[in-house]
Amino acid sequence: MINIRRPDEIEKLRAAALVVSRTLGMIAKEIKPGAKPVDLDRKAEEFIISQGAKPGFKGLYGCPSTLLISKNETVVHGLPTDIPLKEGDVVSVDCGSILDGYYGDHAYTFEVGEVDPKVKKMLDVTKESLYLGIAEFKKGNRLGDIGFAIQKHAEDHGYGVVRELVGHGIGTKLHEDPQVPNFGKRGRGKALKDGMVLAIEPMITMGTYRVKQLSDGWTINTVDGKAAAHFEHDVAMVNGEPEILSTFDYIYEALGINP
Ligand code: MG
Ligand code: MG
Repeated sequence: MINIRRPDEIEKLRAAALVVSRTLGMIAKEIKPGAKPVDLDRKAEEFIISQGAKPGFKGLYGCPSTLLISKNETVVHGLPTDIPLKEGDVVSVDCGSILDGYYGDHAYTFEVGEVDPKVKKMLDVTKESLYLGIAEFKKGNRLGDIGFAIQKHAEDHGYGVVRELVGHGIGTKLHEDPQVPNFGKRGRGKALKDGMVLAIEPMITMGTYRVKQLSDGWTINTVDGKAAAHFEHDVAMVNGEPEILSTFDYIYEALGINP
């Protein structure tokens, strides 16, 4: 069942999403060669608690951490380790929060120092595909329109679209109906309606879209070992149009980027 959220609930979801946005902005300043993912995780947890919220992932499905930190060939669900980040890594940081009973969940893929321009291009295209998908979350469209837009943009650039992992509804549970695949057919699937709130999160690869789970039961890697990217926003439909509840602005501010 797809939950339709009232305006006051959407405001709570926005508040939770913005806790994550501010956390990612704080983490953005810490992403550099030598930084240890475990330290980023601890700082994120302290920061979330300092904002009166709680980590959204930790303890859920047995997740041991506040952040999921996925480097290079790891697509998503990487567990924070004490292996330092190094120059040229790309690292997806996915973060959840819970505030006043509502969840926030979004992610950004960061560059560590200088990154191979080919990999950088894939990051740009993945972020573009996120916004193209979001633009389809409007009245009169269906779920397949979101997936179609993401898939077309990624595949037009020769990249792979991960099939096993998808976006989702978000609300008083982290993962609610519907599933939001990053692939699909135009005009297919459930009708999109006002009050729906979705976490839209393309997971795009440089090579094959095939992935495997490692024996830790969490880490999802590309089968061919090529790099992947992951960007995620929480989005509500308001008056027939998508309204992005989360923001990358804190990240851009921290990195001195003008997108
Ligand atoms: Mg996420
Ligand atoms: Mg998500």
